Amino acid sequence: MLNLVLFGPPGAGKGTQSALIIDQYQLVHLSTGDMLRAERASGSELGQRVQAIMDAGQLVSDEIVIELISKRLDANPDAKGFIFDGFPRTVAQAEALDQMLTSKGTAISCMVSLIVPDQELVDRLVKRGLESGRTDDNAETAWKRIAEYNEKTLPVASYYQGQGKLHEVDGVGEIPEIFSRIDGVLASYS
Ligand code: AMP
Repeated sequence: MLNLVLFGPPGAGKGTQSALIIDQYQLVHLSTGDMLRAERASGSELGQRVQAIMDAGQLVSDEIVIELISKRLDANPDAKGFIFDGFPRTVAQAEALDQMLTSKGTAISCMVSLIVPDQELVDRLVKRGLESGRTDDNAETAWKRIAEYNEKTLPVASYYQGQGKLHEVDGVGEIPEIFSRIDGVLASYS
C-alpha cells in the first residue's frame, strides 16, 4: 500500500495536488476539511458543533477528526492506499493514525510537506475565498489558520521526520511543475 500524508499550511495546494496524485496512483482521498464541510452543509449536529470553530480558524477536537478518519478507513478495506490531506494536524492525531494503520497491518509510507511562504498563502486563500465562497478563506482568518498551523501542526512534520519519512517539496510554481516534484518522491515508494 502507498499511504501518503500530504502536508502543508492552508493554501499550500494540498487539495489541487491530491487530485493529480489520485489520477496517477489510484489512492483514496481522505480530507478531514472536506468531511467537516460536508457535515456543515448537511446541517448535522456535528456540522453545527464545528461551524464556529472552523470559521474562527481554529482546530476542531482530535476526537472528532480521528473518528471521521477511522470510519473512512473501515469503509475502504480494498483501497490501494490513502492520501491523508489536512490530517493529521496534531501529534496526537498522528499517533492515533499510526495505531489505526498498524491494526490494519499497514503504515504511513511517507509525508510530503509543501513549502510555501506565508504571504503567498494568504494571497492564495483570499483569492480562493472570492472564487469559492469558503467562509474561512479571508485575510483575517487566513493569518489565524497559519498561526494555528505553526503552533500545533508543524510538530507533526518532526514526528514523521523522526520516522525517516519526511520529504519537503517546494510548493511554489506552476501546478504541473509542483506535481512532478511530488511524483519524484512517490515514485520511489510505489
Ligand atoms: P482544511 O480544508 O484542511 O484547511 O480545513 C478547514 C478547517 O477544518 C480547519 O481550519 C479546521 O478548523 C478544520 N479541520 C480540518 N482538518 C482538521 C484536523 N485534522 N484537525 C482539526 N481541525 C481540522
